[in-house]
Amino acid sequence: MGEVIGIMSGKGGVGKTTIALNLALAIQKLGRAVIVVDGDIKNPNLGLYLGIYQYPATINDVLKGSADLNSAKCTHSTGISIIPASLSSDSSGVGLSKLKKLFDETDSCIILDFAPGLGREAVSFLELCDKCLIVTNPNIPSVASTLRLVNIVESHNKNILGVVINRTGKSYEISREDIETVCPGKPAWEIPEDENVRKSAMLKTPLLDYKPYSKAAAGFREVAAGIVGVDYKEPGFYKLRQFLDLFRRRTVPEDLPELKNDEDGGDDKNP
Ligand code: ADP
Ligand code: MG
Repeated sequence: MGEVIGIMSGKGGVGKTTIALNLALAIQKLGRAVIVVDGDIKNPNLGLYLGIYQYPATINDVLKGSADLNSAKCTHSTGISIIPASLSSDSSGVGLSKLKKLFDETDSCIILDFAPGLGREAVSFLELCDKCLIVTNPNIPSVASTLRLVNIVESHNKNILGVVINRTGKSYEISREDIETVCPGKPAWEIPEDENVRKSAMLKTPLLDYKPYSKAAAGFREVAAGIVGVDYKEPGFYKLRQFLDLFRRRTVPEDLPELKNDEDGGDDKNP
């Protein structure tokens, strides 16, 4: 595929990093090579979500020109390749044209996990993207910031793939129909609120690895199929697999705190 897909949101904490990693796994299962790049240079957490704390090099080194994409790539046990950002240094704005060239040269699909909002960092990374996927939660602050984001993305003439409405369920403040009007003519996908998402974060693995037949996992696969342009099909014996998923051996630690839904839809919460 060899294209750069930005995972963007107006507001923080809506699920970009979670979606970036699960989409990577789903797209990979559709036979495409994928690299997830941490574009949240000021507040990176892509590596933390996979339990990767030590890196041979980071995207900051790539931006500075002291590493290439291959040498900065870390591969997780699930097969997902990521390029993390440095937890300790800030080199935003440096060498973006070099990064663009490196992205152009790779055959892999690059999934760029953005910083939230419309700051300088996000806008400069937008220049690197061929397409953008907009993530929102079904609440008023999140959708309001999505409107502003869509205007900016469109003013940069970037193709919007669609909107992912993440964490749907009982906390809907704005209907799907109203959210769809934010990006007219573009698909909207729903990912339900699913406590397995946070359990998978505890286990430092994407949901598609932890509970591949959970409700949210099916949502991630559907978005991936839409992005790649293939028809979404549920795996065979889906109900049976869902049932067997309940008995998968990997469990969350005993002392995992009680999981509660965030009533405010989350704001810049990072693990
Ligand atoms: P962002 O990258 O936009 O800041 P994250 O991917 O870090 O957002 O997600 C923020 C929090 O929301 C994390 O604790 C994550 O586990 C949780 N989360 C994301 N999507 C879901 C979901 N569909 N169901 C339940 N929790 C979710
Ligand atoms: Mg994030």
